[in-house]
Amino acid sequence: MVTISTALTDAARRLDAGGIENSRGEARLLLSHVLGFGAEKVIGHPEFEIDDAGMIELESALSRRVRREPMSHVLGKREFWSLNFRVTPDTLDPRPDSETLVEAVLKHVVDRGRRLRVLDLGTGTGCLLLAILSEFPNASGVGMDISQAALDVAKENSETLGLDKRAEFLRAEWDTGLAGEFDIVVSNPPYIPTRELNLLEPEVALFEPRLALDGGIDGLAEYRALGPVLVRRLRSQGIALIELGAGQSGPVGQIMTRVGLDILDQRHDLGGVARCLVLRHAPALTNC
Ligand code: GLN
Repeated sequence: MVTISTALTDAARRLDAGGIENSRGEARLLLSHVLGFGAEKVIGHPEFEIDDAGMIELESALSRRVRREPMSHVLGKREFWSLNFRVTPDTLDPRPDSETLVEAVLKHVVDRGRRLRVLDLGTGTGCLLLAILSEFPNASGVGMDISQAALDVAKENSETLGLDKRAEFLRAEWDTGLAGEFDIVVSNPPYIPTRELNLLEPEVALFEPRLALDGGIDGLAEYRALGPVLVRRLRSQGIALIELGAGQSGPVGQIMTRVGLDILDQRHDLGGVARCLVLRHAPALTNC
């Protein structure tokens, strides 16, 4: 039988040959997934012998990863805001960059007890909406998406996280058919220019949903659609927090100010990229 130690060395070598950077770390993750062990047990018990069923499962996981399927698809999950989200090929993989939006909500809404209404436009796995609801126990919200397959995953995530009583999910193009106004509107819209899609790393270009990535000819098409939706859906004192691609802060800011929103704040991700605009209704101009 093969020991953890041997399996790890072999898996790391194959991942390395497949061009995967953190091969040792990923080998460890795959092995703990297959064996159902915590990382400590994989590291602490190199002599543990893996049975045939385990080796078959490891082989299947390794060959998927070497084909550059995202780790989140192979594991079927991804951590975001320290919560576990199920991820499928129909949903954008939650990224640490998007945690910038959740942090920004916490900075701008100090009272955690508020009865907020939250709207997430293009919810995908539901990660933004559900992370926010997890921080505000009296908040409730709606996640919208054009993809029913994504909404099914988001709903399942809300149940697993025990947030389903406060979250509903609706299929629509942006806010079609939606009623009401919201205190917080968040969105991570598709923002990659179409011609750049095929230049992305294989995990993204080959396996992630185009629908969640393709921002049209200049990457800004969905922000143009989103602007008027934010104006309609924001309460007078509400704030909108939208994710940006690198270098999009200026042009997106212009799109938003043109429809009558003010830029309240701009937040950077850990890589120093301006990743989030915080918007509110511009104060009404008074005649004088
Ligand atoms: N952050 C993603 C990427 O760079 C894109 C997500 C999006 O288009 N909203 O791959």
